Amino acid sequence: MSAPEPTNSYENTNQLFDNAADLLDLDEDMRLVLKTPFRELKVEVPVRMDSGRLEVFIGYRVQHSGARGPMKGGLRYHPEVDFDEVRSLASLMTWKTALVNIPFGGAKGGITCDPPQMSDAEVEHLTRRFTSRLGFAFGIQRDIPAPDVGTNAQIMAWIMDQYGASYGHTPGIVTGKPIALGGSPGREAATGRGVSIIAIEAAEEFGIDMKDCRVAIQGFGNVGSFSARFIQEQGARIVAVSDASGALFDAAGLDVPALIEHAAPRRSIEGFEGGEKITNEELIELECDILVPAALGGVINQDNAAKIRARMIVEAANSPVTTVADSILNERGIPIVPDILANAGGVTVSYFEWVQNIQAFTWNEEEVNAKLSKIMSKAYGDVVALMKSENCSMRTAAYMIAIQRVAVAERLRGGF
Ligand code: NAD
Repeated sequence: MSAPEPTNSYENTNQLFDNAADLLDLDEDMRLVLKTPFRELKVEVPVRMDSGRLEVFIGYRVQHSGARGPMKGGLRYHPEVDFDEVRSLASLMTWKTALVNIPFGGAKGGITCDPPQMSDAEVEHLTRRFTSRLGFAFGIQRDIPAPDVGTNAQIMAWIMDQYGASYGHTPGIVTGKPIALGGSPGREAATGRGVSIIAIEAAEEFGIDMKDCRVAIQGFGNVGSFSARFIQEQGARIVAVSDASGALFDAAGLDVPALIEHAAPRRSIEGFEGGEKITNEELIELECDILVPAALGGVINQDNAAKIRARMIVEAANSPVTTVADSILNERGIPIVPDILANAGGVTVSYFEWVQNIQAFTWNEEEVNAKLSKIMSKAYGDVVALMKSENCSMRTAAYMIAIQRVAVAERLRGGF
């Protein structure tokens, strides 16, 4: 019988860390250093709402590790954001940047709020207040935010502008900016593009033919919609997608470009004419070849892991599979391509954006995409080789590579 499900998401991530650290025979001192976040900040963010009422939001930034370079990670605006979730996501960033071997550490931030219920002006005030309170901890060589759930290029532009008001014009202080302000060509699509690059390689490894295979995607925001587009371009059928408004199913394959055109201005798939309505739970348990969770964490857990009927899971979201579900799926022989590999395309092109900003020089989209492909394929190859030699899961192999790289950097820096 598997161990009980941790209720705390940081504990969940640390269990995955320990599985790999055991195989690496990592000593206790190093485990302690690598598991303890470097710095954690919590700020009060008062905003005068359009109605005249004052609301006080709570914002977080966790800088998990800077051993391999400036700390890097997204900013999440969602009602369920709390310290524990941000801490867990920050540690994933440390392992992700190490796995794809870019010179960054890991961080994450968030504000507990509900953007769909707020006006654009309220979101702008919230973002500027948060930035002015945390700007001292950001820095082009210290901590560089980026978009995540509920945030986008416009919000990054406000952060850059607010930060610049105190510290001088610094485009590289955030990534995922609009191209007109120094954003990188290819950044918006990068996470989904990376998901598809990895899905193609993993499908081949696990005997799934991308041509005409059935793919279900949970979440149709930045990551879900671009993943759907690029995976469909491989000849796969996107048989189901969902978002917070519900899910759609079409055994013949949904028309993804039409769905993107419908959803983009509304930020929702609701009202799309095509496909039959199913529930979000039905989507997760659908019989398909590839299941791509691309929304929130913990959606595949001890309650539904035994009911998953996909042949392979590609984690486009962060932490969509809990540790208990991970063991159940491993026992059932359903391969899981872990988040720190599958969705690393976003931070990789964020790295390219930062490199372009600090050089004040721009690359074109073809160059960006070619460099992204090279990094993703190299990381994939490293993970599969170790998975085979250690006879472990893809996730454990990915963590082993990442932990080893961060541990080497910590050891060389010394100080403890
Ligand atoms: P987003 O805000 O653009 O989209 C989130 C999507 O999830 C929306 O379609 C929303 O409606 C949907 N959603 C919310 N609750 C849902 C529910 N209960 N059921 C089904 N769908 C639901 O966010 P995003 O940037 O696409 O991020 C999605 C995931 O990918 C997150 O886990 C994020 O951490 C991860 N990620 C994002 C990036 C990036 O570059 N944006 C990079 C790496 C990982």
